[in-house]
Amino acid sequence: MPAAETPSTVIDAPVAEPSPVAPAGPGQLVMTAPRRGKPPRHFADLEPSERGEAMVALGEKAFRGKQLATQWFERLEDDPARMTDLPAASRERIAAALLPTLLTPVRTLTADKGTTVKSLYRLHDGALIETVLMRYKNRDTLCISSQAGCGMNCPFCATGQAGLTRNLSTAEIVEQVTAASRALARGEVAGGPGRVGNIVFMGMGEALANYRSAVAAVRRIVTPAPDGLGISARGVTMSTVGLVPAIDKFAQEGIAATLALSLHAPDDELRDELVPINRRWKVGEALDAARRYFEATGRRVSIEYALIKDVNDQAWRADRLGKLLNARGRGWVHVNPIPLNPTPGSKWTASDPAVERAFVAALEARGIPTTIRDTRGSEIDGACGQLAAIGPEQPTTGQVTLGLPTAGKPA
Ligand code: SF4
Repeated sequence: MPAAETPSTVIDAPVAEPSPVAPAGPGQLVMTAPRRGKPPRHFADLEPSERGEAMVALGEKAFRGKQLATQWFERLEDDPARMTDLPAASRERIAAALLPTLLTPVRTLTADKGTTVKSLYRLHDGALIETVLMRYKNRDTLCISSQAGCGMNCPFCATGQAGLTRNLSTAEIVEQVTAASRALARGEVAGGPGRVGNIVFMGMGEALANYRSAVAAVRRIVTPAPDGLGISARGVTMSTVGLVPAIDKFAQEGIAATLALSLHAPDDELRDELVPINRRWKVGEALDAARRYFEATGRRVSIEYALIKDVNDQAWRADRLGKLLNARGRGWVHVNPIPLNPTPGSKWTASDPAVERAFVAALEARGIPTTIRDTRGSEIDGACGQLAAIGPEQPTTGQVTLGLPTAGKPA
């Protein structure tokens, strides 16, 4: 775990009204997101093939779609006045129709000398989401949200306990990436100008439960510029608690992204409790799907395992996990144990370091590549188990009890 640093709030804009959207099914497993008013349509919602048509509908020439894509995705330009290849008379109209503001920054917290940045955004309907940007020597990693809240109801994660507010649209997901990319490109983040190279779907939500928007967003992210952001698919990690049919579907999308399976227990008895979706798709079924993903894509799968003191951190469980993985072949998987971030008020806490080491040793004894993930960002509640989209009127550090088990981890 990196040395903790006192966080600093760099923006703390007032937000007048409380969120008008209430989450559905707190304390229950919710597979289908509540239907809410749709976010405004945005250029990033459109497939490249739809953009010319959208311009024609505005009375413009179809090729303006390509020009706008170049401005938005390649140059990361968000000021219509500077989109000088578009006719001056049309710029504001095009922007009003196709570039509505989807994410309003509410608050930004920084740590690690400004190189870890957690951003809280308000959506058009008042729902809140968060992203975490982590800068490393050789890469910039962004952890993004796919839903406002989460319906998976994992008991050690109060994001899930608080329920699912709604799915994000494709553009609401993509715009998290363009916003961070823009800030980096403009040198607004400590550490100098940079570029988002890794995207992890480990913020709020179960991305594969919002399949259509999440996968469309991945396409926008990996499509070469100017039609998309041109980030390598190898830098994208899709995280899931194990929605088996969706894993199989994603394996057939032709996108060479990494799959991260949040397992957290190798036995159904415990996993039924820790990850309630396990009552629907068992450990064996989730691992089989992960193995099929590897076979279809050639991408080694990550198994995420939040180490929870005296709950799932016994060496015999590591041994059992190693056996289960080896039973499905060699060289296809990597395990990432993650010390659970303490969430005050919760009975769940991180394993002792000696227990953690014994857990890793048991996996390695079975020949399983294993890397303990750091908990960067924990001091700003931006590490795993801590993304909560807490409003600015609420405490921000040391008191947040909501979050994710796998959020904020670099790929
Ligand atoms: S741990 Fe992940 S999948 Fe489970 S409730 Fe929290 S956000 Fe949802």
